[in-house]
Amino acid sequence: MSENNVKNKGFLALNAGSSSLKFALYVATQDNPVMVGNCERIGSGGTVKLKGASGEALDLPENCDLQNHQAAMEVVIASLNLHFPEIEVAAAGHRVVHGGDAYDGPVMLTPEVLKNIESFSKLAPLHQPHNLSGIYAAMEYFPEIPQLVCFDTAFHRTQEFENKAFAIPYELYEKGIMRYGFHGLSYDYINSEIARIAPELHQGKVVVAHLGNGTSLCAIDNGKSKATTMGFTVLDGLPMGTRCGQIDPGVLLHLLESEGYSVSELSRMLYYESGLLGLSGGLSNDMRTLNEAGTEEGQRAIRYFVNKVRSGISTMAATMQGVDLIVFTAGIGENSAEIRRLVCEGLGWIGVDFDNERNTEGEGQRLISTDDSRVKVMVIPTDEELVIARAARELVGQRAAVA
Ligand code: ADP
Repeated sequence: MSENNVKNKGFLALNAGSSSLKFALYVATQDNPVMVGNCERIGSGGTVKLKGASGEALDLPENCDLQNHQAAMEVVIASLNLHFPEIEVAAAGHRVVHGGDAYDGPVMLTPEVLKNIESFSKLAPLHQPHNLSGIYAAMEYFPEIPQLVCFDTAFHRTQEFENKAFAIPYELYEKGIMRYGFHGLSYDYINSEIARIAPELHQGKVVVAHLGNGTSLCAIDNGKSKATTMGFTVLDGLPMGTRCGQIDPGVLLHLLESEGYSVSELSRMLYYESGLLGLSGGLSNDMRTLNEAGTEEGQRAIRYFVNKVRSGISTMAATMQGVDLIVFTAGIGENSAEIRRLVCEGLGWIGVDFDNERNTEGEGQRLISTDDSRVKVMVIPTDEELVIARAARELVGQRAAVA
């Protein structure tokens, strides 16, 4: 990258979810954002959180009404104007969940790319429209700057047929009914961190456990995604806060054919009423609450979750015919020492020599297995916004270099 081209420039990373808009402002080539914000509960009251470079709370702009994503984008602009009026935003980067089979890396937003993203909406109806509303809003408020797009699916485009396909008629595969995999920005970041802190492990076989509200695993072999647990949609694989994870498709047929479920009722159940929430009989989708409740309802959900994470890690390792490093990341993976312990204590047979003192006493990025453990275990906090900002810097640098 040509560093001169990005000096004094700001790069805005935008991550629009169904009811939230996370944003982070980076300056020049620095990896530490000067401002991080989160507009939560868009459309239903809404709250805005704003932090500076050291995590200190920053003053909020006067108007923080969040009636829709456009309004949230106005809060972003007002926050920039309030705290960093001197920074010229050179590019805005967006997280987009689905890039289909078309993109294996970040791209500048062009009318054709926008059309493709819109066409992939039918593959991710519950996520893509919100990503798009973030893009439309940014195009309206920053018409003059380049917008780029980072796809969650892109990191997994290195996977081979046997890990991408479903065993259904091949013509459906040709029509795009295949595993795409998600959480790609998070895996991309973790992969880059492993390369930085442990290059010898980066060349080996790594299983990353992204355990948040959405959860998935990824087998990364020599720096490339080989397999992942999420599939055609973000429903497959591990149980999540409210999503079911892996399920016998016969159950779905039974509910439709014999239990009178409509398609929309089934969809609501699988996306919003299942996972930890469903398993705990409606107690909570939140791992902290389940842990603290100390009830059998909470404990059975945790047992199911731990069992699936542990067996999923074993499957990922088998796919790579070995494992050298297991990484925990995202809300649960980074913060719950108890879940990490429960998962890892069942992985002794695979070569994990877990160190619970390191697990409970340390903080942030660290080793939580013994030094001699055949399979190393680490916690690495993820940073999806930084992946977006780095891509924005790179593309703006390249454009300036050829201009
Ligand atoms: P999202 O997928 O929405 O980005 P996060 O990565 O923020 O989600 O993860 C949210 C999950 O992390 C919740 O289940 C929350 O309870 C869990 N979590 C956060 N902190 C802790 C903690 N200290 N102990 C247990 N679980 C935690």
